[in-house]
Amino acid sequence: MAYLTLKNINKIYPNGFHAVHDFNLDMEKGEFIVFVGPSGCGKSTTLRMIAGLEDISNGEFLIAGKRANEQGPRERGVAMVFQSYALYPQMTVYDNIAFGLELQGADEDYIDEKVRNTARILGLTDYLDRLPRALSGGQRQRVAIGRALIRKVGIFLMDEPLSNLDAKQRVTMRSEITQIHRETGATTIYVTHDQTEAMTMADRIVVMKDGYIQQVGTPRELYFDPVNVFVAGFIGEPPMNFVRQTVKGGKISIGSTVIDLKHKLGDKLGEWEGKEIVFGFRPEAVHLGKEDNAYVLPASVELTEMLGDNTNVYITMDEVHAILKIDPHDTPDVDSDITFSVPYENVYLFDGATEKVIK
Ligand code: ATP
Repeated sequence: MAYLTLKNINKIYPNGFHAVHDFNLDMEKGEFIVFVGPSGCGKSTTLRMIAGLEDISNGEFLIAGKRANEQGPRERGVAMVFQSYALYPQMTVYDNIAFGLELQGADEDYIDEKVRNTARILGLTDYLDRLPRALSGGQRQRVAIGRALIRKVGIFLMDEPLSNLDAKQRVTMRSEITQIHRETGATTIYVTHDQTEAMTMADRIVVMKDGYIQQVGTPRELYFDPVNVFVAGFIGEPPMNFVRQTVKGGKISIGSTVIDLKHKLGDKLGEWEGKEIVFGFRPEAVHLGKEDNAYVLPASVELTEMLGDNTNVYITMDEVHAILKIDPHDTPDVDSDITFSVPYENVYLFDGATEKVIK
């Protein structure tokens, strides 16, 4: 049985705004689930309904098979870390972490053991006597996580906990949170708009847009098998390249190149005649030069960005713009003409009307 179940969950705010539509998800005990999507897609609203901080307008929330809609946060056994964590500035790290247990009137030895254990997991043992102002941003965020972790809870919720940190600290904290999750085994739901955080941390990702789930899957499933244009464009950096065209005589054209869709559509080619399709390929799924079993495309180079481990090449094929991600040793000159190949198997086709992937 799933540990957490969201069944047809909806949120309609008092002003009538329908922020979450028919959200369905089963989570296993100990899973690390990430909700990802652009600003305003309903991630935080869903998290707050799970936390018990926001009423569920419609639908059912179950914990271990029991309805929990009417339970408060404490009864549900949730701990939460927010983007803006306020530590008590006049209290040491030790006291900040201990505070929740002290409020509960826990025994002093028990608190001491818990604080030291939590600090060990978080690498804060050497900082227990410090005040928050003498810590780095990343260390402060770890104290905030420690404060939430110290109570034994079944559900650990995090809402953009890394957004106040700089890029380097975010990378470090990302792997630390994954490590903490491994050690504690708490069922975790993590909200972010950053697809890299989602891809690197999640067991499964829930991609949301405009209050609707778009796809639920492992990072691998979302990357290799996106169900629609939105997911294909959201997961991956730089994003997938898309060309929208109407099929004529079983073909589309990209710039001056004719693309014969029979390689992709086979028997179904006729069904798409006269319809709009979206041709997609990832920047990293191309090879320079001509290859067999691939669409071969000429292009001109507009701009290159050498990033160290790869180069992003911004190209045009007449009116069509795209980005290629290639080995930095092969970086072409700006304004030069190149030829590149997209293996058939690396091409995604989507229905232009519904934006759903064509299998
Ligand atoms: P962000 O990444 O910006 O935090 P989000 O995906 O977490 O975005 P939510 O905070 O869940 O989005 O908000 C979803 C939608 O609901 C937004 O359009 C927001 O304006 C709206 N919303 C949030 N709170 C309320 C409220 N109290 N009353 C009415 N509408 C609200």
